Amino acid sequence: MAITTDLSGKTAVITGSNSGIGLGIAWELARAGADVVLNSFTDSEDDHALAKEIAETCGVTATYIKADMSKGEECRALVAQAGACDILINNAGIQHVAPIDEFPIAKWDAIISINLSSAFHTTAAALPLMRKAGWGRVINVASAHGLTASPFKSAYVAAKHGIIGLTKTTALETAGQSITANAICPGYVLTPLVEAQIPDQMKTHNMDRDTVVREVMLARQPSREFATVEQLGGTAVFLCSDAGAQITGTAISVDGGWTAM
Ligand code: NAD
Repeated sequence: MAITTDLSGKTAVITGSNSGIGLGIAWELARAGADVVLNSFTDSEDDHALAKEIAETCGVTATYIKADMSKGEECRALVAQAGACDILINNAGIQHVAPIDEFPIAKWDAIISINLSSAFHTTAAALPLMRKAGWGRVINVASAHGLTASPFKSAYVAAKHGIIGLTKTTALETAGQSITANAICPGYVLTPLVEAQIPDQMKTHNMDRDTVVREVMLARQPSREFATVEQLGGTAVFLCSDAGAQITGTAISVDGGWTAM
């Protein structure tokens, strides 16, 4: 039988999806036919407008649900409110950079809860729905920092390594149930947030755009090219397709060779 990437009739819940990678994944899943539920902790007109734009462009149902991924009950309520969750993308994440002995405790707690514990809560809420539907895909957006470390990013590196462990356990607990669980590990991705850093970096290093991107920002990414949010979305669509049915418990790098070094 031919492999299909048609996701019509599936509902995808994407945490932290009013910008960046989460939004890019939402667009690609919707382009593949999935209904999508967007999320963040805000509740602005712009948030709801994003859902409307996706719905109108892709001809799918798209809604926006406010839920704070630092709070376990709200993570679980997001899935309950979505009503269906065939595809769960755990993407919400924050960063803080400081040496361990100066790392603010509140920042450590926030990173562990948003980048790691939220995925435990949403997965716990989604698996019964997936088992009932007889099909499911859990995709955790980890990072190259889920496989390798950098100084001053203790909480982020710990959370991203942790989410790869959670991914493997989820895969084992769902094996043989037409449910898969995988992590995607991006290197440096060109999101609006990263794009906004480029002018400052050019000024600091007195370099033109191409040089600062290649020599400074992408120093650890051998391709010396950013990954794009569309490529991350395409990777998610691939994992959701029939081709991904036996891919489970893996950590797929989209990092231009970063973790090959
Ligand atoms: P981003 O800041 O554009 O997106 C983060 C998303 O999470 C936003 O939608 C934000 O609103 C949401 N969020 C933050 N706190 C939240 C909370 N408490 N509750 C609900 N939502 C919350 O950044 P991004 O680069 O798109 O990052 C998305 C994911 O990709 C993160 O997990 C990040 O660690 C990971 N990642 C990013 C890169 C990169 O280069 N941009 C590389 C590797 C991994």
